[in-house]
Amino acid sequence: MVPKAELERRAGLFRQMCRAKGLKATHQRAEVFRELAGSDEHPDAETVYQRVRRRVPAISRDTVYRTLATLVAEGLIRPAAIPGGPSRYDANLARHHHFVCTVCGKVQDFRCEAMDALPIPPSVRALGRIESAQVHVRGVCLSCAKSDPKRRRRR
Ligand SMILES: [Zn+2]
Ligand SMILES: [Zn+2]
Repeated sequence: MVPKAELERRAGLFRQMCRAKGLKATHQRAEVFRELAGSDEHPDAETVYQRVRRRVPAISRDTVYRTLATLVAEGLIRPAAIPGGPSRYDANLARHHHFVCTVCGKVQDFRCEAMDALPIPPSVRALGRIESAQVHVRGVCLSCAKSDPKRRRRR
């Protein structure tokens, strides 16, 4: 769960960025954004659609998918660049890294200044233009480890 203060901060930033970009903060856009901003699970488009539909039954799948694409294009959310499976979305625009659970697939954010500062080696620069770099730490999350004590001991 995203703490309430952080959720308020993201919602404020959303309204502010919509104004700055001349993008109408329509009810549907706000609902799609709220769903992402209130979850730290980095959901895929289908999950966002299923959840928003509970609050806004009239919304169509197409609208949700299109809204996600618009929000990404405007920089209000970003793709969560997690390998494997359908593309997932992230409302945390601050520089952060991911802990990916190899059992349940849950993706959790963490901050680390040392990782932010990791130098990109020349061999990587030689591959193309760098846009961003993010560290993925893979492992077994606390709730998965709890439900399988054997796995925790093995670690
Ligand atoms: Zn897990
Ligand atoms: Zn994230």
